[in-house]
Amino acid sequence: MTDAPARVSIAEWRSRRRQLLAAGLREPPYGGPLDRHVDDGDRRLARLLFDNSAASLRLWNFVLTEEDRLHAARAAGCRIVGAMKDLGTVPVMVFSLENVVAFYPDGAWWIPCLMEQSAGLLSVADRLGLNESFCPVRAMPGAFVTGEHFPRPDLLTCSVGATCDDFSAIAQRLEGLGYPILWWEMPHRRRPDPDEKPVALPGGLFAPAGQVAFVSGELGRVRKAIEDLAGRRLDDAALAAGIRRANRVRRLLAGLRELGFTTAVCPLPALEMLLAEMLAIHFCSDRAECIRVLEELLAEVRTRVRCGAGVLPREAVRVFWVNPVADLRVMNLLEDCGGRLCGTDFMFCHALDAIPEDVPPMEALARAAIADPMVGPSADRAERICADVRHFGAEAVVVSRIPGASHCATEGDVIARIVREKLGIPVVEIEVPPISDAIRPGLQTRLEALVETVREQRR
Ligand code: SF4
Repeated sequence: MTDAPARVSIAEWRSRRRQLLAAGLREPPYGGPLDRHVDDGDRRLARLLFDNSAASLRLWNFVLTEEDRLHAARAAGCRIVGAMKDLGTVPVMVFSLENVVAFYPDGAWWIPCLMEQSAGLLSVADRLGLNESFCPVRAMPGAFVTGEHFPRPDLLTCSVGATCDDFSAIAQRLEGLGYPILWWEMPHRRRPDPDEKPVALPGGLFAPAGQVAFVSGELGRVRKAIEDLAGRRLDDAALAAGIRRANRVRRLLAGLRELGFTTAVCPLPALEMLLAEMLAIHFCSDRAECIRVLEELLAEVRTRVRCGAGVLPREAVRVFWVNPVADLRVMNLLEDCGGRLCGTDFMFCHALDAIPEDVPPMEALARAAIADPMVGPSADRAERICADVRHFGAEAVVVSRIPGASHCATEGDVIARIVREKLGIPVVEIEVPPISDAIRPGLQTRLEALVETVREQRR
C-alpha cells in the first residue's frame, strides 16, 4: 500500500483515507478517520504532520483508542492493573494471564499536550499542591480524580527507591487521595564490587547478583498480587510464554529502529517512531493487536526501504534524541529544521532490549527491570547513548529536557559532556513544555543551528 511516502496534515488524511478505502483498505474495529479524535478533544492533532501510510493510520488509531479498549476489557470481565513508574516489566507479567490487562497511568503525561490543556488536568494538579515545580506527569493524579481518561484500576503498582522525586511525591499524593498502591522497591543500580558475582543485564550493563535477587523478590510480591486479582496462578510456564510474546514486540521494534535510523533515506517520520517505541511499555493495553500494528508498520518500512522511498530529503541531518518530548509537535519541528531521527533514548531503552529467555522468568524480569537507564548513574546512561549513537551513525545529539523534572537538572550536562568527550559531535540542550508554541521560534533557532553545524562539518 506504499505510494509516495510523505508527511501530511490531518485535513489531508481525510482524502487520503478515502483513497485507501477505495483501494481496498480494511480497517480494524478501532479504525476510522483521524480527525474524529480532534472532535473528541485531542486538538493538538490538528497541528501535527503525520506519515501517510495505512500502517501509520492504524498505529495512530490504536494509540488514540486505548481508553475505549480498557473500558471494553472491563466490560468483558477482565481486571485492570495500572503499572506506574514501570517501563515494561509489570505489564509483561500481567499480559501473561488472559483475564488481566495493564495500562500505564503515567501516560497521562501527554494529555495536556494532546488536548492543548483543555482537560484542565494541570489545574487539578495545582489544586492538589502539585504545581509547576513538578514535571508534566503531575497531570496523572488529575486524570485519576476526574475519572475521564481511563477506568479506575483494580490494582495499582508503583516502583519506589531509585525513582525520581517527582513521581515519588505524586504517587504518594495519589495514595493519600484514596488510591491504594502496591509499592515495590527498585534499588539504585551499581556496578558489582570485585567480590560480588556480576550478572549481565540486557543492554550490556552488569549488576551485582544480590541486587538482581532483591528485585526478583520484589517482583514476586507483584506476581502474588496479580494472581490474587486474576484468581489464578501465574506460573513460570505462563511467564515464560509472556516473555516470549513481549520479545516479539521488542524484536519488531528493533527491526523498525534499525531500518528507520540507518537507511540512507528516512523511511518513517520521527513522530511515528516515537509512537511505535511507546508501545513497548505496556503494549497499549492489547498485546496481540500491538504485534499486528507493529508487523504492518515494519512491512511498510521494509517496502519503502526496498523502493528507496522516504519521507525526508536524503541529506537530512542524522540526530539522536534523548528524553521524550512533552509536546509531540517538536518531533515534526526537528524534521522541519532539516533533521531526521537516528536513534533515541526516550528513558526506556531497557524496554526495547530482549528479555533473557535462558534463565528462570522472574530472574529474567528482574534483570530487565534493573537495566532501566533511569535507576543507575547518569554516566551509565550516557555510555549507552554513545554506543547507540555510534551504532546508528547519528551526527548530533539533542538532549530534550522536561520542565520541572528532577532528573533533568543535572543529567543533561553529564550526558552532553560525555557525548562530546567520547564522540566529538555537537550536542544541544533544549527544554520542551507540553505546548511549545510560545517558544517555537527559539526551539527552531536551536535546532536549525545544530543542523547547520553538522552541515558545515560535512563540507
Ligand atoms: S521527572 Fe522524569 S522520570 Fe520522573 S516522572 Fe517526570 S519525566 Fe518521568
